[in-house]
Order: sequence, then structure tokens, then C-alpha cells
Amino acid sequence: MNPFKVSAVLFSLFLGARGLRAQEALPDLQVVPWNGHKAAISLTFDDGDPSHLDVVVPELNQRRMHGTFFLIANKIDRKDDWRKILEWGHEIGNHTLDHLHPATLTPDQEEAQVEGAKNVLQKEFGIRIYSFAYPFTEVTPGLRKWVEKDHLLARGGYGATYDLKPDAEPDWGNIPSHTTLSSLPFTTYQSWIDDDLKDGGWLVWMIHGLEGTPWGWEPISKKNFERILDAIQSKDIWTGTFLEVGSYFRAQKVFEKSQVRSSATAKTWTWQVPDLFPPDVVLKLRVDPTQKNDGKNFEIRQGRQTIRKDANGFYPIDFGKGAVTVGLMPKR
Ligand SMILES: [Zn+2]
Repeated sequence: MNPFKVSAVLFSLFLGARGLRAQEALPDLQVVPWNGHKAAISLTFDDGDPSHLDVVVPELNQRRMHGTFFLIANKIDRKDDWRKILEWGHEIGNHTLDHLHPATLTPDQEEAQVEGAKNVLQKEFGIRIYSFAYPFTEVTPGLRKWVEKDHLLARGGYGATYDLKPDAEPDWGNIPSHTTLSSLPFTTYQSWIDDDLKDGGWLVWMIHGLEGTPWGWEPISKKNFERILDAIQSKDIWTGTFLEVGSYFRAQKVFEKSQVRSSATAKTWTWQVPDLFPPDVVLKLRVDPTQKNDGKNFEIRQGRQTIRKDANGFYPIDFGKGAVTVGLMPKR
């Protein structure tokens, strides 16, 4: 055998060994954006307008959709009706005590308007409040300080972009939103939905009055509202509350910054769960689709629990556990 042939044989042996190792390598895990849907939308409703109880909630319930209702703590009529919407899966968020212009507040008032309102809402409804919306979408440093101290997420007004894409680094204390107006035709709303789908993003809607409201700002017609809901529902869009989508997204960003430790038989991701995080956030993971693996020789675990694939081939994990492991299957 000539020296050239010997080295060729050795080289192919080397490639073979490499190939084998690559097959056995443990795969990487990634978060599936938006709970497995193409895009996400959160519908948020401000100021505790009576039309939300009379028009919005029945329309959402009929479609099994959930919304977020930002209440002004010192101005809540029909408390029993608001209490009921929680049972149906909707969210109540903090919209301050009195809806004053943030720039006019003293430091004491800033604290009272944010913290005081949160306490009132938590006591009144027996729930934890995670979400906040700035009155008049005015984000002042003084208000923001209290908001960030005690809320997981806050909604602001127009951002630089309509929606947040999965690779965005969101400002959790000022999530952008888009507002409905009486003068806008349905085609405008349709384009928001189309753009969100095209981006695969998360679009937060800020909605005030509905047709028939006694005092709501910029009411929109019931017909347009129904068309909006139907247009969203006809697409593969996750319609979750501000908290549902926001906490999933925030969990994704935390997971992506995990510490990863590898050994020959296991790869473990660990992360710190942020303060004030809801306890029940399920994050859907998948194996990096660019990595070849037949899926037979590894399993995904949290502690002693093996995580089974769901119907879509995703691994639903409990984000609150702070760790997930891909390990070689134990030899039986
Ligand atoms: Zn408001």
C-alpha cells in the first residue's frame, strides 16, 4: 500500500469516527416561539369601561379568547362582574389608582398610584397582579421605578415597531402597543394582523370604548370588533392575555441566557426565575431542527421527571423549576 493510500484510509476512518460522535452528540434545545403558533396577539382593554363587560367579554368568551383588562383601582363599578371574568380566564391588570397624568405626580403619589393600586386590586379580587399599563401611555422615570419593582410586565404606547419579534430584547417595563381609534376602518386592523403574522411577532392591542359606551375614549363599533376577533381567530395566532404571552416570552429570553453544562452523558440548562414570576408558566422546547438526530438515544428530564413530547413534537417544561437536562437514555 502506498503512503497516499494509507493516509486516505486513515482519513476516512477519522471521518467515520467523527460521524459517529456527531450522531451520538446530545442535541441543543430551543424555545418554540409563541407557544407553538405563528404569531401572538394580546388584546388589552383600558379603564374598566362598562362596554368591556357588556360587549367585549361575551364576544371573547364565545370564541374562547382571553383578554387583559386594566382597571383604575379607585373607579371600579360592578365588582362582581369583574370578579367573574377572572373565572373565565381573563386577566385584570393595574392602571393606577386614579388615572392621573404621571408627569404631575409627586414621589409619594407615584408610589401610591402604582403600589397602592396594586394592593387594592389584589385585595379586592384575591389575586396576584403582574401587569401594569401607564395612564395616557406616559412613561415617566418616577412611575416606572415603582412599576418595575413590583410588576412583571408593563404596557406602554407606540414603540419603534408595531410588534416584537421572537429575537427582540424587549423592555419589560415598556412593552409597545397599538391603539384602536373610532376613525380607523377595519382594513387597518386587518393590516396589523397581517403584519404581525408576516413578522411572526407579538402585537399588543390597546382598546378603549366599544359602541354604546357611556364614557369610553375612541369607541369602535361592535361590528369592527367582531371582525377583528374573527380575523385573528382565522389564523394561527396565539391570543393570550398580556401576562400569558409576556411571561412566556420573558421565560424564553431567560432560557436563552441559561448556563449550559455538558458532560459525556448529559447537557443541562440552568436559569434564574425572575422575581414575581407566575408559578405555572409552561415553556415549549424543541430539539434544534438543524441538528441531525434520530431522537432515540436521548431523553429530556426535569429532575427525575422525563418530559414526553406533545402532539406537535414539542417538550413542555415547567419554567419554574429552573433547569432542564438532555441525557443519554439509561442502558436497560
Ligand atoms: Zn387609561
